[in-house]
Amino acid sequence: MPLSEFDVIRKYFKPADRQTADVRCGIGDDAAIVRLPEGMELAIAMDTLVAGVHFPLDTAPEDIGFKLLAVNLSDMAAMGAKPAWATLALTLPEADSDWLAGFMQGFNDLAGQYSVSLIGGDLSRGPLTISLQIHGYLPQNKGMLRSGAREGDLIYVSGTLGDAGLALKVLNRELEVDPKYKPLLFQRLNRPEPRIELGETFRDIAHSAIDISDGLLADLGHIIEDSHVGAVVNTDLIPLSEALAELDTAEALQLALTAGDDYELCLTVAEDMQASVDQTATEQCPLTCIGKITSPGKGIQLEDADGRAVRISGVGYRHF
Ligand code: ADP
Ligand code: MG
Repeated sequence: MPLSEFDVIRKYFKPADRQTADVRCGIGDDAAIVRLPEGMELAIAMDTLVAGVHFPLDTAPEDIGFKLLAVNLSDMAAMGAKPAWATLALTLPEADSDWLAGFMQGFNDLAGQYSVSLIGGDLSRGPLTISLQIHGYLPQNKGMLRSGAREGDLIYVSGTLGDAGLALKVLNRELEVDPKYKPLLFQRLNRPEPRIELGETFRDIAHSAIDISDGLLADLGHIIEDSHVGAVVNTDLIPLSEALAELDTAEALQLALTAGDDYELCLTVAEDMQASVDQTATEQCPLTCIGKITSPGKGIQLEDADGRAVRISGVGYRHF
């Protein structure tokens, strides 16, 4: 028997409603009611994944559920917010119980890790499209904006860049890598780790932050535009995984600077904070200083370690 809309809500979505004390009313009524802790402000972000655009059509539903939440959590991390609640708008060609179970499994894997409660949503029939809205909180007047970078700031990035882009090229058979790298690369593509703890740590340290979803050049570009500054990036300092380091240098750099889907953070901090930033870096989440914020006018200048200009074609993923 086909599942009714209400069966789907009760069986698959309701269990992700954690019924924590800060949720007065979750899934099941016309709207959810939440309580914001004293002295906190709400940070709200939304991301949509369209089958065939944001993920290959044959992606496992577990990975889709995980990544949907991960990309939204990454926006919370970029603001320095603590994630709390999510609402889900799901458009499905049919109510396939295996797909729904897998999707929610992936979602819950990550939601459990950060105690994110699914408090409501919407369900309709149509081509597979999934939107998630995430709500998090921030102490009043805190939060890292794209507009806060100052001349002289050091530019840091977390983790390594370009892995998800390389994974996509491997999937599309445009590049080949040693098979030993594939599990890690696909993990980076399908199950990106949102840098939530890093964001919370840096909200009192960084002048500005953004998460790298469209490639470093595009996303750092937003910081320098909104902050009315320029930037110099030393391409020899860009952190690369072993898999990227084995590629042709120009190819690796192209991926690291322009491929999307990394979900690492790019932060700018005052120069005198260098020591405390370096202390914050951990083995799971390395932080690398890749350059400096400069005066406005020249955009992002790419240089190698000897100060020679480096050229790159293509700047990040754009939908329109
Ligand atoms: P309404 O008709 O009042 O808009 P619905 O019948 O669409 O309500 O939804 C009933 C309840 O189920 C609501 O609390 C809604 O938030 C929840 N819900 C519906 N779809 C989803 C979903 N995809 N994920 C989580 N909760 C959902
Ligand atoms: Mg209603």
